[in-house]
Amino acid sequence: MTEEQLDFSAEMEALTKDLVGIRSVNGTAGEREVAEFILRWLRSFPYFAAHPERAFAQQIPGDKLGRENVFAYVHGTKKAEGPRKTLVWYGHIDTVGTEDFGALEPWANDPDKLLEKLLAEPDLPDAVRRDLATGDWMPGRGACDMKSGDAVFLVLLTYLSEHTDAFSGTIVLSLNCVEENEHTGILHGLDVLDELKEREGLDYLFAINNDYICPLYDGDPHRYLYAGAVGKLLPCVYIHGCETHVGQCFEGFDASVAAAEVVRRINYNTALCDGYHGEYTLPPSVLKLADLKPAYNVQTAQEAWTYFNYFVHAASVADILAGLKGIVKESMHEVAGRIDTEAEAYAKLAHQPVVPPKFQPDVLSYEELVAAVREKRGTEALDDELAAMARKLRAEGRDLREISLAIVRHLVRELHPARPLAVLFFAAPYCPANTLRQEVAGEKKLYEVLETLVDAFGKETGEQYKILQFFPSLSDSSYLKIDDTPASVSTLYKNLPGGKTVSPVPTERIRSLSIPAVDFGCYGKDAHKWTERMYKPYTFGVLPKLILKTVAKFL
Ligand SMILES: [Zn+2]
Repeated sequence: MTEEQLDFSAEMEALTKDLVGIRSVNGTAGEREVAEFILRWLRSFPYFAAHPERAFAQQIPGDKLGRENVFAYVHGTKKAEGPRKTLVWYGHIDTVGTEDFGALEPWANDPDKLLEKLLAEPDLPDAVRRDLATGDWMPGRGACDMKSGDAVFLVLLTYLSEHTDAFSGTIVLSLNCVEENEHTGILHGLDVLDELKEREGLDYLFAINNDYICPLYDGDPHRYLYAGAVGKLLPCVYIHGCETHVGQCFEGFDASVAAAEVVRRINYNTALCDGYHGEYTLPPSVLKLADLKPAYNVQTAQEAWTYFNYFVHAASVADILAGLKGIVKESMHEVAGRIDTEAEAYAKLAHQPVVPPKFQPDVLSYEELVAAVREKRGTEALDDELAAMARKLRAEGRDLREISLAIVRHLVRELHPARPLAVLFFAAPYCPANTLRQEVAGEKKLYEVLETLVDAFGKETGEQYKILQFFPSLSDSSYLKIDDTPASVSTLYKNLPGGKTVSPVPTERIRSLSIPAVDFGCYGKDAHKWTERMYKPYTFGVLPKLILKTVAKFL
């Protein structure tokens, strides 16, 4: 059969429906069930029946739900000498929840029935109805993000297992659990990739993710290929103000007001968009803003905190920290100045003598806070105490961000500042950015080879391909390669209370594996929404050919 005649559509569509049919919402036992199904499915093929060690599950250590990753690999037999050139194919097998389906939730995992129900829905948005009415789109939780992508890999891998003479080298498939929040699956999966590399003598060329691609704007005709993944930090600001009774409001420095000012200056701030090779991240988004009062009273807040999703393309942690510190300083001084101005205005109204409080706020990074406490104690013995505190809180199952905050509060209490103080620190998660960098010869070369490949493939198929440097949504791709320098990682962890206990990213292992992570992707729309849908003609008709072309090019 020639390559042009290959048609995997029916098999891929059926398998996608099976996978969607197993409700594998992140944080549920369904994640294990879908992994077990995949392993059984793989082992039903002669190649894996003959080589059972080449399709296996990896338990996530200590996981109460017994979740697991599934791995499978196939050795090509075209020629075999020296290290085996290897492509890694990877995807995630968990999904987000199904609450967003509302009354349609019972059918969220049944694409056929859901399609009927959706078309009967009077309030279905027009654009969705138009798509679904064509019969070319499959709805359902995980259809687009990203079980169809997994199905494409599975069917292609079993196809290649029956045509091992068609390629040299090796293909490793890694299907991971727990992607949608903590990325635990791939973080443990790195152990297996490392072990396979040693045991089978693999040389990882690059990895292909099949997480969904989608139009980036209305009417966008492109199919995107992402040469890496956006990174993410979670900068936090803790503010320790000066409390007061509301009856003497100008005598205090209200931590809530300061936190609000920090949010006003950082959120949506496009000056903080990180650019690389003409691509820019979205600006920071506030994910938390709260005072730390345990109950109602008429005292203004002494403590407040806020944290932000901060996307990264290439900026160093030191530069980000310095930029944010400047903004937090301005915010604190802005609030101090406003208190003085308004106190004066009020004194005028009330015919009282003017006594502006003239607060002199301080701003410290976490690293500076630790140094200040160390100096106050006159001893070096602080690290062990803080590490023990982090381990204890972690064992209690506390939210990771709250653990970092608790450590900061512990230190600020000991410092007992007389002036308003803001502390800037980072919390989990840390998702390293990576891409095929234009200034690194080997990476630039791979970028160009891929560009030539998709240009030619686009001409053949009529698809308009465009390569972008960064997959814009967070993904497991962050953990295969790291572009942050060791110095940048060190700055991050010096400013992340609880360190690797709360943010266990194996940065050294990622750096030693260093597998460029490219996203090809199934095509769909509205991931994480009840109108999630996947476009079958591209996903099952075109994408498999692109992947096989890539195998032919590199293996
Ligand atoms: Zn996804």
